[in-house]
Amino acid sequence: MVENSERAAAMTSYDKCVELTNNLLWSWRPQVVEIFKLLNPRRWRDLGHNPIALLAEYTPEEFEQRVLELALQARIDVAFRNYQKYISERTEWAKQNAGVLGSRPVAYFSLEFGLHESVPIYSGGLGVLAGDHVKSASGLGVPLYAVGLFYDKGYFKQYINAEGEQEEIYQNTDVRNLPLKPCRDKDGNVLMVKVQLRDEAIYAKVRSMQVGRVTLLLLDTDVEQNSENDRKLTSTLYGGDERTRIRQELVCGVGGLRALHAIGVRPGVFHLNEGHNSFVVLEAIREQMESCGVSFKVAMQDVAQKTVFTTHTPVPAGHDRFSPELIEEHLKPMRQELGLSLTELMALGRVDVNRDSEKFCMTVLGLKGSRYANAVSALHGVVTRRMWRDLWPNKTEEEVPIGHITNGVHVPTWMAWEMKVLFERNMPGWTDTNIDRAVWAQAYNIDAGELWETHFALKNLLIDFARRHYRVQLERNGADQEALDRASRILDPNALTIGFARRFATYKRAYLVVQDEERFDKLVNNPDRPVQFIFAGKAHPHDNPGKDVIKRIASIQREPRFADRVLFLEDYDINVARHLVQGVDVWLNNPRRPLEASGTSGQKAVLNGALNCSILDGWWNEAYDGTNGFAIGDGSVHVDDAVTDERDNAALLDVLENQVVKTFFDRNEHGLPIKWIRMMRSSIATLGWRFSADRMVADYVQHAYLPAAGAVSAKMPR
Ligand SMILES: *Cc1c(COP(=O)(O)O)cnc(C)c1O
Repeated sequence: MVENSERAAAMTSYDKCVELTNNLLWSWRPQVVEIFKLLNPRRWRDLGHNPIALLAEYTPEEFEQRVLELALQARIDVAFRNYQKYISERTEWAKQNAGVLGSRPVAYFSLEFGLHESVPIYSGGLGVLAGDHVKSASGLGVPLYAVGLFYDKGYFKQYINAEGEQEEIYQNTDVRNLPLKPCRDKDGNVLMVKVQLRDEAIYAKVRSMQVGRVTLLLLDTDVEQNSENDRKLTSTLYGGDERTRIRQELVCGVGGLRALHAIGVRPGVFHLNEGHNSFVVLEAIREQMESCGVSFKVAMQDVAQKTVFTTHTPVPAGHDRFSPELIEEHLKPMRQELGLSLTELMALGRVDVNRDSEKFCMTVLGLKGSRYANAVSALHGVVTRRMWRDLWPNKTEEEVPIGHITNGVHVPTWMAWEMKVLFERNMPGWTDTNIDRAVWAQAYNIDAGELWETHFALKNLLIDFARRHYRVQLERNGADQEALDRASRILDPNALTIGFARRFATYKRAYLVVQDEERFDKLVNNPDRPVQFIFAGKAHPHDNPGKDVIKRIASIQREPRFADRVLFLEDYDINVARHLVQGVDVWLNNPRRPLEASGTSGQKAVLNGALNCSILDGWWNEAYDGTNGFAIGDGSVHVDDAVTDERDNAALLDVLENQVVKTFFDRNEHGLPIKWIRMMRSSIATLGWRFSADRMVADYVQHAYLPAAGAVSAKMPR
């Protein structure tokens, strides 16, 4: 500690900032973000909130001058000392709860990580969940290494053109602006791993990124040794065909585990985030057979004991499946080392091992290769056990060994700084890493005026952001001055503001609220009780029905009667998400039940005082208690989707008209919606701690990691 302190004293502000930007910890520390923003607010925004790019615009001398002008030095010193303290200390929590994982850490595999908008290696919910998992593991001090792929073009940027259509733009990421460091093998060479296929080999270089206390390894196939095609293998997320997919999954799973070994990490637990990473199981078995000379069967049992598998997909079609030909082309050398025939290997990915027509399913491999399997909400647990019951023909559906750990969100990332300050002032003992329900229950006492004022300030920030964001789109599409001026006035801070932002997969039904346009018109255009909607979300490049939904929303926005009531914001990413969840009054979620495994965006809204209005699906099915938000319908579904949609549309409009709008506009003599504020408090008190990623990661430690490490025996919650 003394050494740290003396080192800090000898460093310039510039050096300190360089070091701060090399660890993504800065991204969830508002005091540090504030420093970069103050340096040059305009450039900070233009550079996509990338502090490395911002620093690169100064020479060290110019930087010190700027720090002097703005009197930032003390802030930088404090930020740097907090950073040093954070990364050098073992947490109390870890000492008490995760000690045994110290020498045999968890290896967490995911095909995407959503950490910050300036690190474009994620597409949506799955990635953001993985990012939040890693950040909470860092905060709690869980010994964990994360493994994923580096995509040099990331996921697409979404432009909405003048016709209201989605355009997909892939941009090259400038790696110099990312906190990436090459990994080195024991001889000091840049680490390269090799995955041998039947006819060729794929190579990947390995770099790392620090996320607080967690190291994230990222594999990248853009190296000379590879064919032109394989060099592009890790170019974009979810691009390409099945062959691309199986290769990406081999690089991440097999290559990723080899990379960990090469840097001297011997994981005691493997956590596979979704079926994409199930090849880890095969590589771990192979390694075990090689190093211990045991049989496939013994090695498989041992690996399964150490493996935790999380599934996120409640639709059978959503799981990766590969033909025997593709499997043989890619896994023949692996299969031979495992001593398996092709039929035996295929059996590991088949529900019915004798059915030759069945493809190799990555989720099946994950389930067979793990002793700890979980869904991501209680309801999703029920659906998942039903979906995979045939894998356990001797068990009843209830006995199927798949539990659930409900998803949560990383509080320091998603809660607005203004809300944190409010909570710290009103709730003794509260910090943004606290998950004690009694501490959060003090939200019931937050001063109504202050809570409303804070929310209203955040709502205004959202409106300001939305106007700016929308203007950029209009300018690009060649809109005239009048349209640009109108964009600068769009959205009314006093209107009830409802946010709907998510992937535009059709089951999420973005169109539901506008399905009956006449009723929608009456809802939004009541002059005494105006209501406005902000939409955002990307459709997968191959998802034409999803793109049609975007067009439909855009065309509604173009109708004069809805022009001030509906706004579609392009390019939904972590930045847009943060503004939305921090500023709306209501977060709307209306998927076709039970297709939303969990959903997490509504949990982010909770932290900022927004109320959820949602179908009883995913996390909301276990969260809603009648006082902490709104439920659409009663959870029933019809076999015919069209009938379900019609019923749910009616139920949604009923709730909006009779409950949401009424409560929101019911004001006391000071103009405060007292009943609404009571619901905000109840939402924060009952949900904030429960749907935090710290709670989620603590659950994984207790119910999965420690049992997998052999430290305790425990059952996954049902
Ligand atoms: C939180 C988040 C998601 C996930 O939201 P869902 O509720 O699961 O739909 C997707 N994309 C981004 C950018 C997010 O921040």
